[in-house]
Amino acid sequence: MSYVDEIYAKVVEQNPGEPEFHQAVKEVLDSLRLVIDANEEKYRSVALLERLVETERIISFRVPWTDDKGQVQVNKGYRVQFNSAIGPYKGGLRLHPSVNQGILKFLGFEQIFKNSLTGLPIGGGKGGSNFDPKGKSDREVMAFCQSFMTELHKYIGADEDVPAGDIGVGGREIGFMFGQYKRLTGLYEGVLTGKGLNYGGSLARTQATGYGLVYILEEMLKANDKELAGKTVVISGSGNVAIYATEKAQQLGAKVVALSDSNGYVYDPDGIQLDVVKDIKEVRRGRIKEYVDAVPTAKYTEGKGIWTIPCDIALPCATQNELNLDDAKALKANGCFAVAEGANMPSTREATDYFLESGMLFMPGKAANAGGVATSALEMSQNSQRLSWTFEEVDEKLHNIMINIFAKADDAAKRYGVAGNYVAGANIAGFEKVADAMLCQGIV
Ligand code: NDP
Repeated sequence: MSYVDEIYAKVVEQNPGEPEFHQAVKEVLDSLRLVIDANEEKYRSVALLERLVETERIISFRVPWTDDKGQVQVNKGYRVQFNSAIGPYKGGLRLHPSVNQGILKFLGFEQIFKNSLTGLPIGGGKGGSNFDPKGKSDREVMAFCQSFMTELHKYIGADEDVPAGDIGVGGREIGFMFGQYKRLTGLYEGVLTGKGLNYGGSLARTQATGYGLVYILEEMLKANDKELAGKTVVISGSGNVAIYATEKAQQLGAKVVALSDSNGYVYDPDGIQLDVVKDIKEVRRGRIKEYVDAVPTAKYTEGKGIWTIPCDIALPCATQNELNLDDAKALKANGCFAVAEGANMPSTREATDYFLESGMLFMPGKAANAGGVATSALEMSQNSQRLSWTFEEVDEKLHNIMINIFAKADDAAKRYGVAGNYVAGANIAGFEKVADAMLCQGIV
């Protein structure tokens, strides 16, 4: 049995009931096969893969808090500190009823390679709780966040582990957690990212994931003798990533004709008017269908189907598994030639395989949406230096980081004889840096 297959079998056997973690390990190891086979003896002798798939540490704890009726509630809290070979653990905190240890291990494992690709000194981690912030009062959210941080603060620090937001954790939650960390430790340090601008947050963090997605898309197009200007683009979602991907794509001369939310999608053949979308989503917290009230020439369609709109480029920016094999075929049939993932794992495995086999350009989320965590790392740098960079400075650094991520994924794919396969390229490039660091640091 090959080293890769042996390790995968062990992961399944030794981590029962964690299907998402098994899936993530399989996807990464499958695309690393070429590298691992070429270095099998070296890696086996130091059990490199065995160590890579085992978390350095998982902290699991209870989170008691009192609701508005005076009833005590108890949630599960976790922090998965997966790999610190290239820097302090870095990764978001997710608050959602679906959170469990297996899901956080899957996200933490993926984060190792994404963070490595950014070229910045950040290791992989993830955390969260099965607490559901939906429908809770501000006081209840604060009570939860303070209790969560009362335990978590023992295990994190600016040079140790720096959590950020994720699903269910935005500026409000980061603020409550930062306040409690400071109160418990007496330290005013960059222990969390995604902070408000008036207490250590970074300019351009809000735009970073969407802008970064378009920057790397541009690189992929350039490398394949194509350009973004003048192209028709379909983007799913209408949240943070979708809005700022639209903004940057428009600035660079593309025409974005569709956006969606979980209810349906709007098609505006004249080009989406982003100020209308920002007003609906960022100011009024409304639904995307309200777009047609302001722009009657646009059309709203309830339900799925956004990928049937003819376009040159598709940017899935909503959620996991939102684009399946039929969607991929519809895109291709209608002339789409490039896809870049703003969301985490929005394309199913079958859709991804189809993009690659049918010769479409495809940039996976691990590389394409890394601008978010990269800018979080820039927030850490500013906090350490006690400086704030201008919007333009951060944006320029982000742009260069995305150019470098593309170059690394492209180069790794070419070196291993799979030129143009940026899925393999991104996994290989992310892995190489972590593996080298682990080899240098001995058996730890
Ligand atoms: P938001 O919550 O701001 O927006 C998500 C958008 O997707 C909303 O418009 C939402 O609609 C829509 N959506 C959710 N579920 C579905 C669905 N089933 N079908 C269609 N639309 C849906 O999230 P973000 O923009 O921050 O994140 C989007 C994706 O990008 C996620 O996968 C996230 O993990 C990933 N990501 C985000 C980063 C960041 O910096 N924000 C960094 C890296 C990755 P509705 O309002 O109806 O729920």
